[in-house]
Amino acid sequence: MIVLNKAHITGKEIQYISETLRGQTSGNGQFTKKCHKFFSDRYNFKKSLLTTSCTDALEMAAILSGVGPGDEVVMPSFTFVSTANPFLLRGAKVVFADSENHNPNINVAALPNYITKHTKAIVVVHYAGVAVDMDAVMRISRDYNLIVIEDAAQAIDGYYKGKPLGSIGHFGCFSFHDTKNIVSGEGGLLVINDSRFIDRAEILWEKGTNRSAFIRGEVDKYGWVDVGSSFLPSELTAAFLLAQLESIDEIQNGRMRLWNIYFETFSGRDAELGVLPPQIPTFAKHNAHIFYLLCDSVEKRNFLIKELKLAGIQAYFHYPPLHLSKYFLQNNRPQSLPNSHRYFDQLIRIPLYYDLTESEQQHVIDSVINLLTIFNRTNQK
Ligand SMILES: *Cc1c(COP(=O)(O)O)cnc(C)c1O
Repeated sequence: MIVLNKAHITGKEIQYISETLRGQTSGNGQFTKKCHKFFSDRYNFKKSLLTTSCTDALEMAAILSGVGPGDEVVMPSFTFVSTANPFLLRGAKVVFADSENHNPNINVAALPNYITKHTKAIVVVHYAGVAVDMDAVMRISRDYNLIVIEDAAQAIDGYYKGKPLGSIGHFGCFSFHDTKNIVSGEGGLLVINDSRFIDRAEILWEKGTNRSAFIRGEVDKYGWVDVGSSFLPSELTAAFLLAQLESIDEIQNGRMRLWNIYFETFSGRDAELGVLPPQIPTFAKHNAHIFYLLCDSVEKRNFLIKELKLAGIQAYFHYPPLHLSKYFLQNNRPQSLPNSHRYFDQLIRIPLYYDLTESEQQHVIDSVINLLTIFNRTNQK
C-alpha cells in the first residue's frame, strides 16, 4: 500500500529525546529554547511559543484577540474544525466564508461582504501551504480594525512575497502533527507578530503565571497574574521537533522535487484528462505540503479514490465544508458557499511525503492517468 502521507524520521529524534531523559522533561527547557531560537533565526519571527498543538496555538490566539460573546470571527468553511473551535469556545460567533475560484483559500475580495459591526477577527488558512493574499487581508484588517490570525498549520516554510507565512497577521499558528511537513507527534507553535500581545501570551502559556519572566530573572518570585492554561509542550516534544527542524531543508527539498514532478505531469492536460493541478498565485511560494488534483466532476473524483485504493494507493478528498456540518447546522441556517462545496466534491489528494520513492511516485502517476483514461472513455458525453 502506498499511503497518502508518512512522517520522515531523521534518526536524530531519539538521540535528542534521550538527552531530555537525563535532565528536564517538563516544558520550557533547553530544547524549547533551541526551537524558539531556530524560528527567530530562520524566519525572523518576533516571538515564538511552542504549543502542544496548532489547535492550542489557535486557542491562545483566540484568548489574546479578546473575542467573546457578541463578537463575530470570519473564516473559510473549507478548513479543519480546529480553525473554528477555539473561537466558539470563547463564546464568539463563527462566520463562514467561501473559497476562491482558483484555489481553496478564503475569497479575499469577498471578505467585506462577511464583515459586520460585530466582526472582531479574520482567520485565514494557507491551504496546502499556499499563501492567501495577505496584503489585501491586512488592508481590510486596517480598514475595519480587525485582528488577523493566520492558521498556518500546513504552511511551515511557505512564503508570501518573500515573507514567511505566519509572520504577517497579528498571530500565526503552526502544526507539527505527524501529517504535516515537520512533525513532533503532536505539536504546534504560536507566533506573535504584534508586540502588544507578547507579555500576556507568555502568561497564558504558563498557566496564568509569570513564570517565564521569573526564569529570565526579571521578577524574584512568580505567581498567579492572569487566566491561562498548560499550552506548553514537554521537552520530549521539543527535542523531537528540534531534530526535525535541523533537517528542514532536506525534508523540504525532497517534498518539493516530488511535488514538481506531479505538477509537470498534470499541467496543461485539462482537455485530455479533465483534471487540474493546483494553481499557485505568483505572490506565493508554497511548501509542497499537499499535492491535489481538481477533477471536473464528483463522479470522476470518487471513481479515482475508489479505484486507486483497489490498486494499493491511498488518495483522499478533503474537508466537508464546516458550514454544512451537523454541529454547525444545529444553531445556524444553511447557506450556500459553492466553491467550498466544489473543493469538497472534486479535490483529490495523492501521496506526497519525503520517503516516497521515484518508482512509487511513477506508479501513482501511471495509475491516475490510466484510471482517468478509463473513466473518460466510459463517460463520454
Ligand atoms: C492540522 C491542522 C490543524 C490542527 O493542527 P493540530 O496540531 O493537529 O492541532 C488546524 N488547522 C489546519 C488548517 C490544519 O491543517
